[in-house]
Amino acid sequence: MKVSLDHIGIAVGDLEAALRFYRDALGLEVSGSEEVAIQRVRAHFLMLGDSTGADSEDARAALELLEATGPDSPIAKFVDKRGPGLHHITLSVDDIRATMARVSARGAKLIDEHPRIGAEGALVAFVHPSSTHGVLIELKQSASGGRRPAVEDQTIRRFVLGDLELVSLYDGFFRLDGGSMFGTVPRSLWSSQVTPDARHRIPLAMRPLVVRGARTMLVDAGIGDKEHEKFCDIYGVERGRNLDHALAEAGLGPEDIDLVLATHLHFDHAGGFTIRDAAGRVRPRFPRARYVVRRGEWDDATHPHERNRASYLPDNFQPLAEAGVLELVSDDQTIMPGVRVRRTGGHTDHHQIVVIDSGGQQAAFVADLMPTTAHLPPAWIMGFDLFPMETLTAKKNFIREAVDRHTLVFFEHDPRLAAGYIQLENGKPRILGTVGSHGARDGHDESL
Ligand SMILES: [Zn+2]
Ligand SMILES: [Zn+2]
Repeated sequence: MKVSLDHIGIAVGDLEAALRFYRDALGLEVSGSEEVAIQRVRAHFLMLGDSTGADSEDARAALELLEATGPDSPIAKFVDKRGPGLHHITLSVDDIRATMARVSARGAKLIDEHPRIGAEGALVAFVHPSSTHGVLIELKQSASGGRRPAVEDQTIRRFVLGDLELVSLYDGFFRLDGGSMFGTVPRSLWSSQVTPDARHRIPLAMRPLVVRGARTMLVDAGIGDKEHEKFCDIYGVERGRNLDHALAEAGLGPEDIDLVLATHLHFDHAGGFTIRDAAGRVRPRFPRARYVVRRGEWDDATHPHERNRASYLPDNFQPLAEAGVLELVSDDQTIMPGVRVRRTGGHTDHHQIVVIDSGGQQAAFVADLMPTTAHLPPAWIMGFDLFPMETLTAKKNFIREAVDRHTLVFFEHDPRLAAGYIQLENGKPRILGTVGSHGARDGHDESL
């Protein structure tokens, strides 16, 4: 765990006088200012360290002069009560959630129970001065997390489907052997679609989906953060931007999720169902949620064999049963208004996709039936699939339906495209990408 100084916040009463010292007398460069309207604060940043490029921008700490913009600003109150002076110290950490768990396990009082989204998409949380010997400490995990993502930065995508809002989230990237990902398809063919790394792996995203309607449902939850370094190395896990960022970006906290729905229980789908708490116990990550799992998938996951054992990690699902939040469903059925599960089999015996209907429009979250857009050709089937002929039939049926119904298809593992439509071109299916909207609630699809 690396902790470094990001910046020091100083509350000032008279900004011009403060700049005469820090900028003019000390000679620090002012790198910019930012107004936080809701807090009635304006922040001015002065960079420390070497400005000639010897120190990278990220490595340079800063001073932040905080100026009140109204009499009811917390900074105005601070200055009134204590005079100008040190307001907070911001420490940058690799993994804010791990740091929060660690300090709270040792008795520190956190002001924020969950990380919040701060400037530039960073995750931030404050530790109470009563635990830090009098200094307000802000923890910060920058958006890039120190490690650059494999393909591109991820962002949430919003879609409106009838009465429902669909938000495609992300939980970072991982990597799997390219040969395994395309089964019997020769490398000479698949490598024209996707380039493997030096360890023969291809990048895959994890994109859980939120459905907001009668309830707020999360479909799958990514790989989570319980695994060790060796696991993360083998699978090339890169979660600098992860489900915490995505949920915060969507305006949701863990307590907002009513239902968690599993397509199946492989670790790249169910890893985020649970979390290791400060005491080292694994517990459900979404405190209010019921977790809906297909009964056959549950039975298989809890009775693994040599072929599927590595994909089913008990910590991802066993604690759900222990906590009494597990809901097993046996057949294809409606999970909440507009949202149905449909068994495809193939990848696992009880693998299911999620079909969403509202206002005469359809969307589908196809999970490992078609993990990426490169898996559109019916015979491009993963070597991991236990019943590839079932995958073949289910995929052909699905593609026909998706073309007929103009279904918005969510690709859970595609590193670039979260969702698109399947269209026929000269009788052959192809994918038309759609980017959704980034921020607005009334997102309109835009064709690429
Ligand atoms: Zn799977
Ligand atoms: Zn998968």
